[in-house]
This record gives sequence, structure tokens and C-alpha cells, in this order.
Amino acid sequence: MSNKLRSSPSGPGGGYPQGMAIRDIRLFGDPILRTAAEPVTDFDKQLRSLVRDLTQTLDDAQGAGLAAPQIGVGLRVFAYAVGSERGYLVNPELEFPDDDERVGEEGCLSFPGIYYDVKRRLHTVAKGFTDRGDPIQIVGTEVLARCLQHETDHLDGVLFIDRMDIATRKQAMREIRAANWDVQLKISPHRMTDRIF
Ligand SMILES: [Zn+2]
Repeated sequence: MSNKLRSSPSGPGGGYPQGMAIRDIRLFGDPILRTAAEPVTDFDKQLRSLVRDLTQTLDDAQGAGLAAPQIGVGLRVFAYAVGSERGYLVNPELEFPDDDERVGEEGCLSFPGIYYDVKRRLHTVAKGFTDRGDPIQIVGTEVLARCLQHETDHLDGVLFIDRMDIATRKQAMREIRAANWDVQLKISPHRMTDRIF
């Protein structure tokens, strides 16, 4: 499946600061999105460059979260940008302080233009590491909690369609099969872009 979501060529140079790269975002159908990612073991320069690429690609796509498999890298790393909460996490593990759940609309950068309700836990604590190997944790509620769950799922090869109830998933799959992602897609200005992970 080709990816023509971007109008400008990727790679160094293309109007972005040197050393940073906007990567192509893999779309549903690409087998890497169904493959569990490997834990990071080397906290080295390559990891820092992956974190930079993830952050830059996420900003370019104006999404709220992006996991390494979505740019073709099978490592357990994601970046997030939910309102003023921005960052990344290496080797995340989720904890749930309570049982509260909430249904909310969700999109995914690997499913352009597809938005459906997904039930997620309302509060999430994501524990993981910085790119230097220092332990950190992100306490997320509402949209950030949703983002942390969506991105960690990506690292397990789990996609948001798997989290929909049966009727919603049927409807989503019908729309996905009919979608033509080879044409240039623009995010509708009416869309809540802070829910696209
Ligand atoms: Zn996603």
C-alpha cells in the first residue's frame, strides 16, 4: 500500500532542521502494524534519533500520538502531544489506578479519516524510560490516558479497531474497505485532531 499522505518528500533537507526526518506513516494493511515491537535494550544515539523522528513526524502529521511501528520501526517507543502535554516514552508499561472507563471518539494516523468510539480506561499511569535509560512515569487522564493506551497497544500489534465493540467495528471495517488512502487526504478542520493517535 502506498502512502501519499505527505505532499513533500521525506528525508533530511526538506525544509526541516538538519538531522531531523519526517518519516512515512505506515497505513493499515502494513504487516508491521500487526507485529509486537521489541523492547529497547540500547539507549544510544540511534534511539535518540528515533525519538527525534517520531516527534517530528507526529508534529508534521498534527496528531496526538505516534508509535515507532507506525514509522516502520519495531521498537517499544512512542511520542505523544496532547494539548500542552508532550513527550515520549521508551519500554512503556501501563498501570490502572481504578476501574473507571469512558467511551470517546478516536482516530489513528494509520487509518486516515476513520473516527469511531472506543471505550478506554479513564486514568492511566505509564511507566517507562527516557532515551538515556532513566525511569519516568506519565500520569494520564481522559485524552492523555486514551493516547497512552492507544500507543501502548500499537507496540503489541493491537489496533483501535480491535478495541471497538462488534457493531462499531463492523461499521468501521466497511468504511476502511471503501476508503481510498492513495489519494491526498486532508484532515477536516472540524475534526478534533487531538484525538488522532
Ligand atoms: Zn494509532
